[in-house]
Amino acid sequence: MSCVASRCTELTIKVYLPCIDEEAGDIMAFENDTVRELLEKYRRIWAIRHASSVLGWDMEVNMPKEGIMERSVAEGELSVMSHEFLLDPSFVTLVDKAKSIDALSEEERGVVRVLSRDIKISSSFPPEFIRELSETTSRATAAWKEAKEKNDYNKFAPWLDRIMDLGKKAADYLGYDAYPYDALLDMFEEGLTTADVEKMFGTIESELKPLLDKILSEDKVPKEHPLEKLRYNTEAMQKVNLEILKMFGFPLGQRSRIDVSAHPFTTEFGVKDVRITTRYEGFDFKRSILSTVHEYGHALYELQQNEEFMFTPIAGGVSLGIHESQSRFWENIVGRSMEFAELIYPILKKHVPEIGKYSAEDIYWYFNTVRPDLIRTEADVVTYNFHILVRFKIEKIMINEGIKASELPALWDDEMEKMLGIRPKTYSEGILQDIHWAHGTIGYFPTYSIGTLLSAQLAAHMERDVGSIGERVAAREFGVIQSWLREKIHRYGSIYPPKELLKRSIGEELNPKYFVDYVKKKYL
Ligand code: MG
Repeated sequence: MSCVASRCTELTIKVYLPCIDEEAGDIMAFENDTVRELLEKYRRIWAIRHASSVLGWDMEVNMPKEGIMERSVAEGELSVMSHEFLLDPSFVTLVDKAKSIDALSEEERGVVRVLSRDIKISSSFPPEFIRELSETTSRATAAWKEAKEKNDYNKFAPWLDRIMDLGKKAADYLGYDAYPYDALLDMFEEGLTTADVEKMFGTIESELKPLLDKILSEDKVPKEHPLEKLRYNTEAMQKVNLEILKMFGFPLGQRSRIDVSAHPFTTEFGVKDVRITTRYEGFDFKRSILSTVHEYGHALYELQQNEEFMFTPIAGGVSLGIHESQSRFWENIVGRSMEFAELIYPILKKHVPEIGKYSAEDIYWYFNTVRPDLIRTEADVVTYNFHILVRFKIEKIMINEGIKASELPALWDDEMEKMLGIRPKTYSEGILQDIHWAHGTIGYFPTYSIGTLLSAQLAAHMERDVGSIGERVAAREFGVIQSWLREKIHRYGSIYPPKELLKRSIGEELNPKYFVDYVKKKYL
């Protein structure tokens, strides 16, 4: 996703604009003349973002290695164009005019809110700052790679000091009420504040930590499983993934595709073209299956959009946290359930006969091991939140209080030991493991935990409405689950900001206690 650096520059580019085919996309849900005019103009920006998504997908899935240089230039130019269209004075004036109209529908108000926010963020940073950030982060990323490879933190520390300074500057440009870190959080999750995240992790620390300790001290939940070592054939696992997606009713070939990439992701070119990727490493097949199921959850959010929002800025998931709640819902609540293990067991046996030596219950426990690991991306459902907690504590100090990069490794190691009882022996498996800070991305991590915690909350609400999710999975009634998600979350697109969406759809704000209950019920 975008970091600050990719948002804007101030160059001027002339671009040839083709005519818009009126029939191909009349904007139906919107009646106000000013909003309709706005959306007509917006279509240029939409088209650039569409093209840029295609280029980004192609880069990860198809592009030969050396295409990267020309591709980066093309992407850079497109982002300049879209920035220029967004900040075009006539466009900004139109957005301001629409903002002052009282009689707008909810959808129209959504359009105005999303565009105003885009304009505000894009116009906050002076060009010198954008240039400095872009140069610093690209050099910092190279330094980070070398530092991680050689386990030499000193190579990265001076860059991290500069990035922390730039983060504080960015917060000042954006503006904030209580803490500078609030401004950075808001860029990734509209309306999110330091206080919100503190409250969320307060519950994780006080209630989930004792549960984790209890799980680890008992024998019920395995810490590892022999199936992690089982080698598999990629073609066989591809067939397993396709059968699972077919069972979900994924519209392969009609409105979607699945491809392979090193880091699985989902991208939407539009409402009717949503693509996912997964990975095949040849062993530990749950990584491939659960990645597929995770990305399916992201894709479903986009596929179940209201089609009337096509070509508008309110088509598509509203925020990173809400998006992640959808992927985590399918991965954790559906994919890690006993009923799902039972459902896919015959599929697995058919394509990978060695699995016949194990039972469906073995598959279940293999999918649900819990063990502290130093690496975030290897973490299980329970320990994962503590990895994010450590990063949040550090980011908060970086931006709200200030600290020298040289002091950070000790802080990281102490927090890891306190939370997970393990201490990194190298920088590479400690503070240097993630690329985010080198990219200048500070404030992103908490959205991962929001997704995980919210998925359990949505599951509890869904069960109140439609009964046991496990029973639905066992009966292959995925339509009931999909309809509930469409009704409560997907059909709104980005009309409402995340907090308001939750209030409307489930009548309450994010509450981590649901996740704590989920862990208690599942593991103890
Ligand atoms: Mg995800």
